[in-house]
Amino acid sequence: MKFQYWLALGLVWACFGGLQAQTQEPCGTALAVQKLTPEQRRFLPGGQAFEQALRVGATQHGSLCDSGIVYRIPVVFHVVHNGEPIGTGDNIAEARLQEQIDILNQDYRRRPGTLGFNTDPRGADAWIEFYLACRDPQGNPHTGINRINGQRDTWVLADNSLKDVISWPTDRYLNFWVADIEGSGLGWATFPASTLPGLPITQGTDGVVIDRGAVGYSTTSRLYNKGRTATHEVGHWLGLLHIWGDGDCSATDFCEDTPPQNGYFLQCPIPSALACPGEPAPMQRNYLQYTPDTCMNIFTRDQVYRMRYVLCNTPDRVTLRNQAPCTTHTQPQARPLFQILYLPGLAGQFRLAFAEAGRARIVLYSADGKYLLDQTVDADPGQQVSYNLSTFAPGTYALLVTQNGRQEVRRVVNRVR
Ligand SMILES: [Zn+2]
Repeated sequence: MKFQYWLALGLVWACFGGLQAQTQEPCGTALAVQKLTPEQRRFLPGGQAFEQALRVGATQHGSLCDSGIVYRIPVVFHVVHNGEPIGTGDNIAEARLQEQIDILNQDYRRRPGTLGFNTDPRGADAWIEFYLACRDPQGNPHTGINRINGQRDTWVLADNSLKDVISWPTDRYLNFWVADIEGSGLGWATFPASTLPGLPITQGTDGVVIDRGAVGYSTTSRLYNKGRTATHEVGHWLGLLHIWGDGDCSATDFCEDTPPQNGYFLQCPIPSALACPGEPAPMQRNYLQYTPDTCMNIFTRDQVYRMRYVLCNTPDRVTLRNQAPCTTHTQPQARPLFQILYLPGLAGQFRLAFAEAGRARIVLYSADGKYLLDQTVDADPGQQVSYNLSTFAPGTYALLVTQNGRQEVRRVVNRVR
């Protein structure tokens, strides 16, 4: 209800002209979620199925990540420019990207002596770190930075067409797209899904988008020049909601240790009028606020719990923390469990080719979460199983294979004849 109210208000303002930019929120994550179906949203942070899975996980031994273990996530930056030379305009300098990695590590480790440190008793070290990928998807040495001419000046907040320019496999990399976002938009992230039946097909679009003016110690932004847009958006990518729950005092971010708050504020200090009756003052230094970069330096314990739960339990994140770190990249990567082979000229038909021996469970879902097939196969290396989707609607489907204690998801596309 609250969202509809603000939407209506935004439209009224837009009709008077000139004021629309003021109504645009800097973060487009909630806007991107609104584009999904209600069934998909159930399985995302804030949705009933996601929050229930997380609550159940909290009471079950073994569903949590081991505390005290640092999980390290490989990052690839796709700098989508418009033909500018490196270091100018949208084609931002490598120094900004290196700084961004450093800032993420300071903030997610609450590192003493940096801007990411805090002494708030509710504050916590997330034990999550990030590094520039050192291999491309084919296994060749790489800097973790792609520079691509997207043939456009600006891109629209919460519109995933930017990601058509390039993306790397989202089960092996945290994809960052850096581009010039229209208006006052700073970025947006895709949420993790709790279970596969509700998995919005994220391969190709999963990751974080950041306005090129808000990366690292930006020299072009006055308020967003400490790299905290990325800290905020990666928080969403790991399952965090805005601290005000995208609503008023009745909304929640599902964290007990972040006080509810009556909406957001774009500056700090946050006025006491945003406090909710009988509740502590708003936590203005939380990374999931909209306050300027210098005003934030806290993840709470409950927020850290959510992020580590996501990293260890959600199907579209679990593979990321186990990627071989750069220092040991001479070790062979785990071989994919299976390959998808499309059959030329036969729309909707493909084969699944196994790489390993062992009993495998194969589950197929549609993009809107409908459950289409669930079968078990005693597989041999090289064995192929044929599928025909031509009686189903054209579009994207997800194929999940569980075998030998591992789980992998691939996207399959059912094209129009
Ligand atoms: Zn946000």
